[in-house]
Amino acid sequence: MVKRLLSIFICALIIFAQPLPVFADDAQVTTWERVEDERFEQDMAGQKEETQVPAAEPGEEKAPLWLRIGLKYGSSAVSSSTVTCDSGFILADVERYSCEEAEDLSEYTSLYVECSGGKVFVYDEKDGEELFELGSGQMLMSADPDPDSRIVTIDGSRYRDGVSYRAYGDSMSVINRVTLEHYVPGVVANEMGYTYPAEALKAQAVTARSYAVCSLGKHGSYGFDLCTGQNCQVYRGVSSERQSTTDACRATEDMVITYEDKPVSGYYYAYSSGWTLDSQDVWTSQPGYLLGVKDEYAEEYLWKASVSFDSLRSRLNAAGYSCGEIQSVSVKKKLDNGAVYTLTVSTDSGDIDISKSAINGALSTFGVKSLFFYISGTDYPKNESRPVGSFFALGGVPYEPEEKVYVVGADGEAVEVSASDLYILRGKKAMEAFASGKTSYFDEDAEDGMLYMTGFGWGHSVGMPQVSAKNMALAGRTYDEILKYYYTGIEIRSLHGE
Ligand SMILES: [Zn+2]
Repeated sequence: MVKRLLSIFICALIIFAQPLPVFADDAQVTTWERVEDERFEQDMAGQKEETQVPAAEPGEEKAPLWLRIGLKYGSSAVSSSTVTCDSGFILADVERYSCEEAEDLSEYTSLYVECSGGKVFVYDEKDGEELFELGSGQMLMSADPDPDSRIVTIDGSRYRDGVSYRAYGDSMSVINRVTLEHYVPGVVANEMGYTYPAEALKAQAVTARSYAVCSLGKHGSYGFDLCTGQNCQVYRGVSSERQSTTDACRATEDMVITYEDKPVSGYYYAYSSGWTLDSQDVWTSQPGYLLGVKDEYAEEYLWKASVSFDSLRSRLNAAGYSCGEIQSVSVKKKLDNGAVYTLTVSTDSGDIDISKSAINGALSTFGVKSLFFYISGTDYPKNESRPVGSFFALGGVPYEPEEKVYVVGADGEAVEVSASDLYILRGKKAMEAFASGKTSYFDEDAEDGMLYMTGFGWGHSVGMPQVSAKNMALAGRTYDEILKYYYTGIEIRSLHGE
């Protein structure tokens, strides 16, 4: 009876704890959309630029790496642009590791830029006087003598360092020219809640920096390296910087993730399912550092999804499958860690097998958030219970199985127990426990022609789960320990050498 009460309490703790405000209002959870597939394969295709990082002599300043971030391009390309800076401007010739002043423009605080016939012309915005033609290797940079205070307002939004343009006929790409260390703070708070503990933010800063270094030339056909969306990393310049994230970037200055002596991209997602996955079990390529690990810092995130066979059929047909009337959906293959690898959709015109990330492509719009799920009524383990200590973090802090925890029963008595003696109830037992109403995560009366799924975790499950990184930081681990836990065989090194 005591065990039953304990179980109920833990179950309640975990279920009622779900809507944790773990992501700050202006941060965003990395959602797993089809763009993730494309992004991963693009990243692995490796037609990007390799650069030789100039080694810094002892005592000498490290030459900053200059990035090109596409703010407007393609269908959002413009024919004119306005750039302002209270400190005035410098016209600079900029390359990967150099930035030379070509002309002092500090008397101009507002410039108007127009594109015509494949050329870019700069005017004094105040009197309309044409000043010069801007070369593609040149940028308009803030004239502020302190590099960390250089901010320009490009078409109404504030970015660090400077701006350049790439003309295509009568329209042009707008490109923020920014150093790596000035770019990363504009990313971190968009990708992880800025209220997260410092070591988690540092881990995120290093992954963001590594990703940028590995993406030079990624959007080369548009004249820049990285875009500002989820295809690369969400970047909003100065408006998304926070003190905590800027501190995390400064504390990890120049540090990147390397594998076999080369910088590599760190992939990450929101909530772990207790295991991370080999990248080849989600996408296709398998670099050695993206191997699945058992995640002792997972925080349970449960979800429930359902879809009618008719809607699923439409979705599959829209995605190019030839799907007849659906009769049933079942799991054909599961990995040892519980992730669904292949799903079989049985139809009146034959079976359709869907594997790995394509499962999410088919089901994410119906609320499926990870590959770790059960289909109700078929493979759902109605009476399964899982030990707590080996899998879950309680209240955000991971417990060692032998560690003592205190549990309050329904009678108000606190009881000391081992974490390994605690169980989470699932399926019918949990339904009985929650007969009073909080049963929505579990089985319910199924309707014919519907697919019901219950799962856990949120994201593609490759690399670092951000909520687990938070829990590791709360447990006293450092950012390099966090990164090495989730990325196999990596080193954390200075981009410019030791
Ligand atoms: Zn991109």
